[in-house]
Amino acid sequence: MLVAGNWKMNGSQAMVRALLPSLAGEIAGIGVDVVVCPPFPYLSLAVECLAGSVLGVGAQDMHPAPCGAHTGEVSAQMLLDVGCNWVILGHSERRAGNGEDDLAVARKTRTALAAGLSPIVCVGETLEQREAGRTFDVVAAQLSAVLEGAGPERAASLVLAYEPVWAIGTGLTASPEQAQEVHSRLRQQAEAFAPDAGRSLRVLYGGSVKAANAAALFAMPDIDGGLIGGASLDAGEFAAICRAAEGRSWNS
Ligand code: PEP
Repeated sequence: MLVAGNWKMNGSQAMVRALLPSLAGEIAGIGVDVVVCPPFPYLSLAVECLAGSVLGVGAQDMHPAPCGAHTGEVSAQMLLDVGCNWVILGHSERRAGNGEDDLAVARKTRTALAAGLSPIVCVGETLEQREAGRTFDVVAAQLSAVLEGAGPERAASLVLAYEPVWAIGTGLTASPEQAQEVHSRLRQQAEAFAPDAGRSLRVLYGGSVKAANAAALFAMPDIDGGLIGGASLDAGEFAAICRAAEGRSWNS
């Protein structure tokens, strides 16, 4: 199981210094992979604060090019250079607010994997798409681009996050059954692309996960953890979500 916290554009140096050591203490020895993804300016500090712990640090985006004339952007090598091993890609807020399309997400995925970063790639439908019965088509098209970007030889190293857009930051959560249905389709599609990928791919659920609903979601056979937004800003709540993931091996 893997639980990742997406801080989005929240936090401060003081918050990194207070929250991360307390989180590391609360979940010391836990049998779950845990990653925190603060904003770019706090990544180095997060790495420093988590030295000696097993928590990973991730970024929330990166540029697909290795370097060059891309003002305001950050490359995979820079993330590795400051001690990051993870990166969230294709979050719906970036797809909607920054014009990221499937091709851009696929390029970033390819670059991240080639550089040795572990990408957590987000897919998910809007409420309008769900109500029109298009959920599976939408996520299948998004996943197809990601798999092409990864290529069959690297697809097994992907982490996907199914994040229904209507459940992000809204307090609405997909029911465990609704999420399971999509996760299982995503896994089948990955398996058809590369048999290894179907077996080893981790598919996280994201969308208003809290300590109160995490255990029911994580009990589903194809839910391999969570991508947590708002609740990751509270060390106690986030630790409780991580504990809810404990006890289930991600590929069982
Ligand atoms: C997210 O932004 O990835 C997310 C899942 O947010 P929240 O948990 O706040 O819905």
